[in-house]
Amino acid sequence: MCKNCWKKYSSIYYSTEDQKEKDRKRSIKYSLRPDVKKKRKERDAIKYSIPEIREKQKEYSKEYYRRPENTELLKNRNRESLRALKIEVMNAYGGKCECCGEVRLEFLTIEHSFGDGKQKRQEVGRTNIYRDLKKRGFPKNEGIQVLCFNCNLSRAMQGYCPHDIDRKNLIELTIKYNYK
Ligand SMILES: [Zn+2]
Ligand SMILES: [Zn+2]
Repeated sequence: MCKNCWKKYSSIYYSTEDQKEKDRKRSIKYSLRPDVKKKRKERDAIKYSIPEIREKQKEYSKEYYRRPENTELLKNRNRESLRALKIEVMNAYGGKCECCGEVRLEFLTIEHSFGDGKQKRQEVGRTNIYRDLKKRGFPKNEGIQVLCFNCNLSRAMQGYCPHDIDRKNLIELTIKYNYK
């Protein structure tokens, strides 16, 4: 095969979507190999130890994520990974509101029943509370419980949840009708 033929052949071969996809997968697999990863890390460490290169890279990535097509991408990616993290944390602590049984993820929140939740939140931020809990293997001895926003807020504001009153009434009613 002469040079021109090779060029023609390869341009056809590599332009099919199938082949592109295969190549992409292969290169991802390659880049995830431990030895390749390690080498890349070492190379990057040397490269980014030079301040000018570090600055340039920072500028580039800022510019990259400011492009309209990429801001959306970044937002979606962040949202997805945050959701996955939240699912993991909620499941580790029971997966539902301790007070009313709400299970929909959007309503759920983590509460420190020792009462230092607010302080902790200000210290590290809400997302980082999740990260922090995961990093520490979901500790079970810190008075952490899952509550929905409704139950959480009314406990914080009023010191009780209306559900408590419902439960109390239900118990009283049960006693009244069963033991009169
Ligand atoms: Zn609730
Ligand atoms: Zn409640």
